[in-house]
Amino acid sequence: MEWLIIAVFLGLFTLEFFIEFTLNELNLRYVSARRSEKFIPAYFSEKISPAEFDKSVEYTLAKGRFARWTEIYGRCIALIVLFSGLLGWLDQVSAGIAQPFPLNLYGHGIVFCLGLGLVFSFAGIPTDLYSTFGLEARFGFNKMTVGLYIVDKLKALILALLIGIPFLFVVLWLMDAMGHYWWIWAFAFISGFQLLMIVIFPTFIAPWFNKFEPLKEGELRNRILALADRIGFKTSGIYAMDGSKRSAHSNAYFTGIGKTKRIVLFDTLIEQMTVDQGVAVLAHEMGHYKMKHIRRMLIVQSIFLLIGLYILSLLLDYPPLFLAFGLIPSHHAALVLFSLLSGPATFYLGPFMNLLSRRHEYEADHFAVQTLRDGKPMEEALVNLTVKNLANLTPHPWYSAYHYSHPTPAERISAIQISPKS
Ligand SMILES: [Zn+2]
Repeated sequence: MEWLIIAVFLGLFTLEFFIEFTLNELNLRYVSARRSEKFIPAYFSEKISPAEFDKSVEYTLAKGRFARWTEIYGRCIALIVLFSGLLGWLDQVSAGIAQPFPLNLYGHGIVFCLGLGLVFSFAGIPTDLYSTFGLEARFGFNKMTVGLYIVDKLKALILALLIGIPFLFVVLWLMDAMGHYWWIWAFAFISGFQLLMIVIFPTFIAPWFNKFEPLKEGELRNRILALADRIGFKTSGIYAMDGSKRSAHSNAYFTGIGKTKRIVLFDTLIEQMTVDQGVAVLAHEMGHYKMKHIRRMLIVQSIFLLIGLYILSLLLDYPPLFLAFGLIPSHHAALVLFSLLSGPATFYLGPFMNLLSRRHEYEADHFAVQTLRDGKPMEEALVNLTVKNLANLTPHPWYSAYHYSHPTPAERISAIQISPKS
């Protein structure tokens, strides 16, 4: 039985790798071919200089070539973790570490899960370092110093411990104490926990990594407030964030729920955009809120979570699965195996989630155009973001359909141009 489980897993694992790898290769070839034809999507041909277009192609190709190696590297790490005996060894070591402490049954599980998290974090450092200080730096995006990089990693580790330990404790306890229907209790707990994180993230966690200052008085602030008022968007404030501390990439988002909702603009965005363009970006963001996109996404994710937990509850009573990967059946081993093995299944959900997300982007663009009764500011903001971030103007259609959470800039602009203005 164990061999069959391993064979099925390896089959799905290889298929996933093959799809991922092939899509990336197709995209690389497609982008190179468009460049040799000097093909720039019609709308952009007057908005982007040949030099800027060339740079965006170079950036796309560099990222794609790097993705080729990170994909292979990541797969090797996953195989080593699953088949080297590391899981069984870590399980034993964790039991030893937790032994002297009270509640050591849960302690054992917590040390095991966090230990494995640490293994993956360390394994990710080489590619992360190259991405930040090699690739991003080469194209002028990286602003991060080595010192800041180390401080960020340490803060992330402290957060993972502060949040991860109590979280795992409750989940393991529910699995232990709630009998047959523990997965419904776990679902309720995890959902509540997610909501709590949405509330505390903007006020307690994000400020630990970045400085947030109320957007200074002026035209941009006045117009955003007037817009929020007109739409009926209640916010606890508009903030400028020092995104330039780490990267020259620009962005804007809103975060939190209810009264804690705040609008955040990266300083890089404020610097790069005109007031009209900035207001258009915010109108788009408020569109996501008005059309309840975030709530809808949360509901879809909750459904997947509930299904996932139910499947996990079935796997708990199936010892061959544990034995196949060198583990003794336990609740924490089930949690870890589930998160490691669910990849090949959730991989196919990605494109559906992206499809939904792209639909939301079109709707938010449409909302911005209607609210401003003008499509120009949104179009210009998109051109600005695309050029400044060196976004790929000509992705392979299969690649973008599979991986893109946003429609391509050319697709968005064509949709805005035919969108009614009132
Ligand atoms: Zn959006």
